[in-house]
Amino acid sequence: MSGNGAFMTSRTLQTIGQQVGRRSWAEPWKIKMVEPLRMISREEREVALNEAGYNTFLLRSDDVYIDLLTDSGTSAMSDRQWAGMMVADEAYAGSRNFYHLEEAVHRYYGYQFVIPTHQGRGAEHLISRVAIEPGQFVPGNMYFTTTRHHQELAGGTFVDVIIDEAHDAAVIHPFKGNVDLDKLEALIAREGAARIAYVSLAGTVNMAGGQPVSMANVKALRALCDRHGIKLYLDATRMVENAFFIQEREEGYADRSIAAILFEFCGYTDGAWMSAKKDSLVNIGGWLAINDPVMFEELRNLVVVFEGLHTYGGLAGRDMEAIAIGIAESVQDDHVRSRIGQVRYLGDLLNIWRIPIVQPVGGHAVFLDAREFYPHVPQVEFPAQTLAAELYLDSGIRSMERGVASAGRDAATGNHHFPRLELTRLAIPRRVYTQAHMDVVAESVRAVYQARAETRGLRMVYEPKYLRFFQAKFERL
Ligand SMILES: *Cc1c(COP(=O)(O)O)cnc(C)c1O
Repeated sequence: MSGNGAFMTSRTLQTIGQQVGRRSWAEPWKIKMVEPLRMISREEREVALNEAGYNTFLLRSDDVYIDLLTDSGTSAMSDRQWAGMMVADEAYAGSRNFYHLEEAVHRYYGYQFVIPTHQGRGAEHLISRVAIEPGQFVPGNMYFTTTRHHQELAGGTFVDVIIDEAHDAAVIHPFKGNVDLDKLEALIAREGAARIAYVSLAGTVNMAGGQPVSMANVKALRALCDRHGIKLYLDATRMVENAFFIQEREEGYADRSIAAILFEFCGYTDGAWMSAKKDSLVNIGGWLAINDPVMFEELRNLVVVFEGLHTYGGLAGRDMEAIAIGIAESVQDDHVRSRIGQVRYLGDLLNIWRIPIVQPVGGHAVFLDAREFYPHVPQVEFPAQTLAAELYLDSGIRSMERGVASAGRDAATGNHHFPRLELTRLAIPRRVYTQAHMDVVAESVRAVYQARAETRGLRMVYEPKYLRFFQAKFERL
């Protein structure tokens, strides 16, 4: 790419090698099958980006070199998962793979009743419809795009009750995903417990930079919810990664396995929805799980309308099998350590080079702080979208905007939401790229950073009505 990759890599090794007593560790797998990457010229990238309206979601993946758009559905499956797909049961009803999935969720997440869905938002749709009455509030630890959208479609109003630290990219806090219990109490005091649909808790908060929630926080939250008779539901999408941070940072958990921590955490909640495309190492799928038999009955009925029969929920038997095996693989301590270790490797390089990123580095991605990157680009000119475009132009690396474009507009006033965090996300697919790929990424970010003064922002020229960031188009100012 930049031609000096070998030089930078050896410099990195020198820096890391200075840590006394360092012992390297590596991924707990080896590679059996490879997929060639394609690299196009800068001129071709300029054409491609123009055609895509400066939106990385609208690029063809054949025009991308290293794809860090998302860690969703982009993981590499194991030989065991592929083998499981080949012997799957494609019965319409009662597929044995559904029972494997049910058993895996029961065993590792602990919930009583399980409903498969085609992906996470299918589950969000169902729970929002069943658990929210129009006019109710849904407090949560920072919003997620599809989660909040389904809560609003069901007539709810999302209220952010995450701790203040989460909104500041530079602040170091071990559990930046924690709920601020005072904010939640204040909301309940103001609106009354009956107007709270449920508390919407996410394990490792995506929009805050992949930041975890502590076990102490979920315990306290459980007690608070019990005092007021409010349900607590979990977005378990990256809860395995959250368990790693508890093991690493919270007193009393260093000797507990990821699986044990995950199980305990989920035990404080009343149910969960899941995008299996993240933690569970599959390309498609999700589920909804719940302990209340009455609600389960309603959800099991509703899934037939929107997803499919309750023993497949929009998934093929082979997909359910891949999830069942993926769940078991995903909770292995050495897997999680190497997954988050790779994300940190990239973050450490950028920290060494003093490039502004969200601190501390989270579980699934490194988030570039576009405000600090481009202080001369006002937020209405989409600094994070601009940064994603520049990275693609420099090296063919694809990232994603997580700032004002993703935040959308206020449902009542129609004005842009202006989130304090204006971020460009480098999401790392699981088990897909090597350390050398991470070097190439870091060097490209540095090149874009060095050229930052000349960079100008963007203007939105096409804006879809829902979840606009997926399909919006932009022009260079
Ligand atoms: C991806 C994601 C979802 C939605 O899941 P899909 O499988 O993309 O529909 C929900 N919550 C979080 C935190 C996510 O990252």
